[in-house]
Amino acid sequence: MPAPPCTSCHTARAALRRPRSGHALCGACFCATFEAEVLHTVLAGRLLPPGAVVAVGASGGKDSTVLAHVLRELAPRLDISLQLVAVDEGIGGYRDAALAAVQRQAARWELPLTVVAYADLFGGWTMDAVARSTAGLGRSRSCCTFCGVLRRRALEEGARLVGATHIVTGHNADDMAETVLMNFLRGDTGRLARGGGLGSPGEGGALPRCRPLQFASQKEVVLYAHFRRLDYFSEECVYAPEAFRGHARDLLKRLEAARPSAVLDLVHSAERLALAPAALPPRPGACSRCGALASRALCQACALLDGLNRGRPRLAIGKGRRGLDEEGPPGDRARPPASEAIPAF
Ligand code: SF4
Repeated sequence: MPAPPCTSCHTARAALRRPRSGHALCGACFCATFEAEVLHTVLAGRLLPPGAVVAVGASGGKDSTVLAHVLRELAPRLDISLQLVAVDEGIGGYRDAALAAVQRQAARWELPLTVVAYADLFGGWTMDAVARSTAGLGRSRSCCTFCGVLRRRALEEGARLVGATHIVTGHNADDMAETVLMNFLRGDTGRLARGGGLGSPGEGGALPRCRPLQFASQKEVVLYAHFRRLDYFSEECVYAPEAFRGHARDLLKRLEAARPSAVLDLVHSAERLALAPAALPPRPGACSRCGALASRALCQACALLDGLNRGRPRLAIGKGRRGLDEEGPPGDRARPPASEAIPAF
């Protein structure tokens, strides 16, 4: 059966049926709609003020690639300038190839690129060294739990290095829904209390962060990359399979099969969630070492590095604490198969 005409331009043949709305769109109209929705997210949330110098957390994966491309398209309208900031975690056999993809993007799009490495920032610790040091600590203490904390710090350092006023990351709606599920499953009221939101306003001297793709599904991010012919890295990080996030992802896929709106419903639920005062974690103070927000004497990153240097890395996960962040950066997941990403007519 021939594809129906595009319901937007009425001239080209539709190339996809939009999972969100069911509208049949050609590739060009889908991409224009996707960009308009990201623009709306940024403007409605007042995420990036005119004049902002925006550090894009670039991993070479599909999410950050799409984010950088869309923001580059929108930059003149938003009156912002972009800097790509990539983090080299020191993961042998994985990150070098991903960084090569970021370098190709920077060259093609003529965007400045800065790479910051764990080894330089954290006294020689690479993620491979952390993995060796923490092997056998237990199932809930996967490498991603450590890496999430260090990545956050590294991206902040990189953004400050380039004079950024704001940080954006490529987390999409599926990432956010997985995070909400993980926080519930871990009883992590600290992170639930912070809600979904579109990011953090920059408490404790940190740069404001936001996630302009937060309402875009993973399928649509892949579709945008497909129609724009974007070059991105799609291998999975060697440590990803052990992450707790994988369980949340599997659960979410089953929920989505029964209720297609489950992903966005979860994202919006987190935005509206309010905890009773008695359930709120204590107000964070300042890390005695680096000044970042901390619920204990040291922030998560300083406490982790302290433990690593002493040979006794300790973690505080869930159960009402401000648990560690187990979010992998955009691009850590393998590319979904095209059959899953592109709905057929
Ligand atoms: Fe770090 Fe992502 Fe690899 Fe986990 S999957 S170890 S968060 S790079």
